[in-house]
Amino acid sequence: MDEKKTFFKRYELPQLPYKVDALEPYISKDIIDVHYNGHHKAYVNTTNTLLDRMEKITKKEVTQGNYDLQGVIRNLVFNINGHKLHSLYWKNMTPAKNDKENNPGGKLADLIISQYGTIGRFKELFIEAANSLPGGGWTTLNYDIENKNLHIMTYENHFMNQIAELPILLILDEFEHAYYLQYKNKRADYINMWWLLINWDDAENRLSNAENKL
Ligand code: MN
Repeated sequence: MDEKKTFFKRYELPQLPYKVDALEPYISKDIIDVHYNGHHKAYVNTTNTLLDRMEKITKKEVTQGNYDLQGVIRNLVFNINGHKLHSLYWKNMTPAKNDKENNPGGKLADLIISQYGTIGRFKELFIEAANSLPGGGWTTLNYDIENKNLHIMTYENHFMNQIAELPILLILDEFEHAYYLQYKNKRADYINMWWLLINWDDAENRLSNAENKL
């Protein structure tokens, strides 16, 4: 293959699945605006700049010794994960139906109950895991098709503390930019309010998609 012809496809910022004020009062318009148009967009732009770099390296337009391939790979992982995790986070939320409860139904609810006993105990554990995550990162619920186990896991920063190949069903962004404008240092309050915004239909769809890959 002629390395001159190499081309890395670029990434694009996906549409936000609702208006910037749709998650109010739980997550303010200002937060969503900065988070989506600022942070998420920056991950996409930086990814594409890094792909320019990879393209130049592949085409040998930069000579060996003048680049740090491991550094480029690490930055790509960080930024592409920033992009993918945010894309999932947006779709994983929906305007709140009420100000009290928001619980799963369907097959995911059955799975949760068979493993954790009750939805309430699962919620407690997920929130405890989220509250104990040090610094910025993500808490997720993943599904292992192999034996139909659910796993609560984390991303420390954008790097994985994850079991390989397990699709994410549920995801919570815990970076300060996700709540600080509104909740300041009260991360636990943001986490409790986020629960009201979970799009359980999206989580259920992700579970079905995982099952269909069997
Ligand atoms: Mn974020």
